[in-house]
Amino acid sequence: MNLPEAFKKRMKQKLADSYDEFEASFEKPPVKGFHLNTSVISRDRFEADDFGKASLSWERVGEGEDAYIYNAEHIGSHPFHHAGIIYSQDPAAMSVVSGIEFRPGERVLDLCAAPGGKSSQIAARISPLGGRLLSNEVNPSRNQILVSNMERMGYDCVSVSKLMPDELAVQFPSYFDTVLVDAPCSGEGMFRKYPESIDEWSIENVTLCAKRQREILSSAVSCLKPGGRLIYSTCTYADEEDEDIVDFLTEELSFSLTAPSRRYYPHEFPGEGQFCAYLQKAGGHETDTTGNHELSDKRFKPVSKDVLKAVSKELGILPEKITEHIYLFRDSIVYVPEGSILPDKAVTSFGIKAGKCEKGRFIPEHAFFKACGKYLGTRLELAPDSPEIAAYLRGEEFRISSDHEGLITEGAPFGVITVFGVALGGFKLTGNRVKNHYPKGLRNTF
Ligand code: SAM
Repeated sequence: MNLPEAFKKRMKQKLADSYDEFEASFEKPPVKGFHLNTSVISRDRFEADDFGKASLSWERVGEGEDAYIYNAEHIGSHPFHHAGIIYSQDPAAMSVVSGIEFRPGERVLDLCAAPGGKSSQIAARISPLGGRLLSNEVNPSRNQILVSNMERMGYDCVSVSKLMPDELAVQFPSYFDTVLVDAPCSGEGMFRKYPESIDEWSIENVTLCAKRQREILSSAVSCLKPGGRLIYSTCTYADEEDEDIVDFLTEELSFSLTAPSRRYYPHEFPGEGQFCAYLQKAGGHETDTTGNHELSDKRFKPVSKDVLKAVSKELGILPEKITEHIYLFRDSIVYVPEGSILPDKAVTSFGIKAGKCEKGRFIPEHAFFKACGKYLGTRLELAPDSPEIAAYLRGEEFRISSDHEGLITEGAPFGVITVFGVALGGFKLTGNRVKNHYPKGLRNTF
C-alpha cells in the first residue's frame, strides 16, 4: 500500500518500535465485523443457532456484548441482515459504543451519524430502557442511507434529522443526556479498508479537520445537559484530531475525562484504526425524561376513527400504545412513539411511517412492518435457511399450507414474515398465497 511519506514519518514517531508491525498490517485484508441487535435477539439465542454459525463463521470479539467478526461473502443478502438482526460494522468502530452503560429513559444525540453503525448500537441498547435517539447527518445522500439503515433495523426509538451542529444547539439547548460526536476526520485509520482515501490525506487536511471538529464540538456542548456525557471518536491517528481535541474539551469547554482515551491499531486489535474519549460536561446530572413532544406538535393531526378502523381491518387489533399515537402527518399516517424526539425542521424520519389510506383502505408501509410487526395478528415465522425466505427476499410470491407450523393468523390480511420472531417485512395472505410486499429496492438479486 502506497502510504504518504509524511504520514509514515508521523506514525514512526508515534509508534516507535511497533511501527514495522503497524505497516505490515496494511498487507492483511480488512477485518469484517458485525454487531448484534440485542434489542431483538439475545446473544445466547443468536449463538445457539447453527445456521448463523455455519453461514457467517462468526467469532465474538472485544469486550462488548454485541461485537463479532465473521468470514462470509455477500452479508448484505443474508436474512439476518435483512431482518436487522445484524449490522455490518468494523469491530474497532463498534468498540466506541460497546462498553457504554445507558440509564433508563436517556435522550441521546448521535450528531454525525451516517451510515448509522453507532446509532444502531445505541438504539439497540436504549430501546429496552425506554430511551430515545436523535440520529443526525448533514450530508443528504448519507442521510438517506442512515434513514434506510434505521428502518432495516426496525427501531422505534430513533428520529433522523439533517441539521447543522449550530442548528441543533439552537433547537436542543441542554436537552440530551448523552451526545456522540463521531467526527468527520482525516480517516487515517481507514487507509487499509478504503485505499482511495489515501489520496485525500495531507497535513493541511488534518489541520482543516481539527478546526471543523472544534466547531462541531462547540455546538455539541450546548445540546448536552449539565453533567451530561460526551463521547468523542475519530477513525484517525493524528494527535491534532484526537488528544489535542480532548485537551480543547477539558481546557476550554470545561469537560472532564471519565476514562482514559482509547486507541485501536490494526496491528493490535482485529479491526481498523479508531480513537475514542469519554467525557462529562461540568454540572450535576439528572436524567429528566419528562416532555411529551408530539402531543403539542401542530404538525401532527389526530386521525379519525374511520382511519383507525381501516388500520385494524388490514392489520388486526393493535395495542393502545400504538393506536393512541397514530397521527396524520402531511398525507401520511404515522406512528410516533411517546417521547419521540421531534426537531422543528429538517427531519428526515421520525416515528414510523405507518401507511396511507386510499379510498377508505389502509395500505401499510414497510417501516411499520419492521418496527411494529411483532404486534400484528398475522405472522409467518420461517426458518432462515428455508426456500421460502430466499424466495421472499427475491420478491417472489409463494404458497404455504394453512397448517404451516409457523403461521399465526387472526384473520387480518396483512401480516409479517419473521425469522427468530424478528420482522423481515410484510405480506398479504390470499388463500394459501403469500403475496410479497418486500420493497423492490431491498430485494436480493440472486
Ligand atoms: N457515526 C457514523 C457511523 O458509525 O456509521 C460515521 C460517521 S462519519 C465518521 C462522520 C460523518 O460526519 C459523515 O457522515 C459526514 O457526512 C458528517 N459530517 C461532515 N461534516 C460535518 C459537519 N460539519 N457537521 C456534522 N457532521 C458532519
